[in-house]
Parts: sequence; C-alpha cells; structure tokens
Amino acid sequence: MTENAAEPAEMRFDTVEALEAYLAATDQPTNAPGDTQLRMLRHAMQDTPPACRDDERFVADYLTAQHRVELGRICRACPLRNQCRAYATRARPEAGFWAGQKYDQPTG
Ligand code: SF4
Repeated sequence: MTENAAEPAEMRFDTVEALEAYLAATDQPTNAPGDTQLRMLRHAMQDTPPACRDDERFVADYLTAQHRVELGRICRACPLRNQCRAYATRARPEAGFWAGQKYDQPTG
C-alpha cells in the first residue's frame, strides 16, 4: 500500500500563521474543510496582517473569561475578521481562538 501524502482531509491549523505557511507551500486545492475560505483568508493576509499575529494567547489551550473578552476585542477590530470567521465556521479548528471564539466544542 502506498502512502498518500496528498490527502489533507483532517488537516487543521491552530493559528493563521500556520495556515499561511501551509498555503505558501502549495497552490493545489485540497479536500480540507474550509479550503476555499482558507485561500480567501490567505489572499487577504497578503495585504493585511492579522491583528493576532505573534500573540500567544490565540493558541493557548485554556483561556480565562478575561482573556476571551480581550481576544474577542482584538478580533472585533481585526480587518480580516470576516474572512477568518468564514474559514473557522467551515473548518471548525480544534485549537486556537478564531474570529472571536474557540471552535473546539461540538455543534448541536
Ligand atoms: S479575526 Fe481574530 S483570530 Fe482571526 S485573524 Fe483577526 S485577530 Fe486573528
């Protein structure tokens, strides 16, 4: 059986920097959830840096209520919020804080 390295269906990113690095390495479409939205976000990031860049709180495993308020405030002011939310809503990243919230809880 051959290993298929081109199947990123379970691919998840915990930061916008991580997804930017991934997309910088490939222009090939994938089956990963939110791939289209991811590329739109990356396109926007080429001209506009995300407000969360280099802020370690956005990748923390645990956030206090106060941190959530602070990060939410940063996201609300971020010029990439719409693109970021479009991606996160579709991909539901299991880690990180995206467009004002965490997506690590199941829907329902
Ligand atoms: S909306 Fe928030 S998480 Fe998304 S890029 Fe902007 S600051 Fe980062």
